[in-house]
Amino acid sequence: MDKSFVRADGSNLPKIDALMVGLFFKNNPDFYSAELRNVKTTLASRESYGDDAIGWVQLCRKKEVCTVKCQMCPEHKVRSASYKVTLVVNEKKRQIISCECHDCVASLGGCKHAVAFLMWVHRRSEEPSCTSVECYWKKSTLSRVGTSLKFIAADQLCKKKAKKHDVNSGLFLEFVQEAKKRKLSNCEVLKYQNDFVYVGIKQFSFHSF
Ligand SMILES: [Zn+2]
Repeated sequence: MDKSFVRADGSNLPKIDALMVGLFFKNNPDFYSAELRNVKTTLASRESYGDDAIGWVQLCRKKEVCTVKCQMCPEHKVRSASYKVTLVVNEKKRQIISCECHDCVASLGGCKHAVAFLMWVHRRSEEPSCTSVECYWKKSTLSRVGTSLKFIAADQLCKKKAKKHDVNSGLFLEFVQEAKKRKLSNCEVLKYQNDFVYVGIKQFSFHSF
């Protein structure tokens, strides 16, 4: 941990509401550069990336300014060095002063790590306060892969449980029946039905036996 910093947990993180995020994006054209607009920003701010990739969150308060630092595990190479991101917030004025990634060569400020961390703190602010305080000074889930975790199943990557769908062939059979009724011939899947017959001269081709 850095000097004069403390571990961040569910109770001491600065509150960042949607208005503060909106204002920050508006005032920082970096985050709105052509490259980041739309695709990258939405990808980085989506819940699953930030929550699994962020670890070692620490913070330091000096008067009304709170500095929050984290280490972010790279999305695709979980074993390589983390990206360090620092967020500075004026809590009294309820204003985000800066959010910077220190390890991205590509970008001054507006990289996806900075966006993901900002949105992560924002999401923590929106979470209903619960009785247990979660400590964020810990390894990220992603970076545990290969050290304390030897492997990870896809459904363990996030807390959300994936929906399990029953195997149900009813809809498919219904589709096939309806397609036969309408005498469809331009649907690939129908060509694999036993009783499928090509129309016209093609039905005499040896490929259809
Ligand atoms: Zn970065």
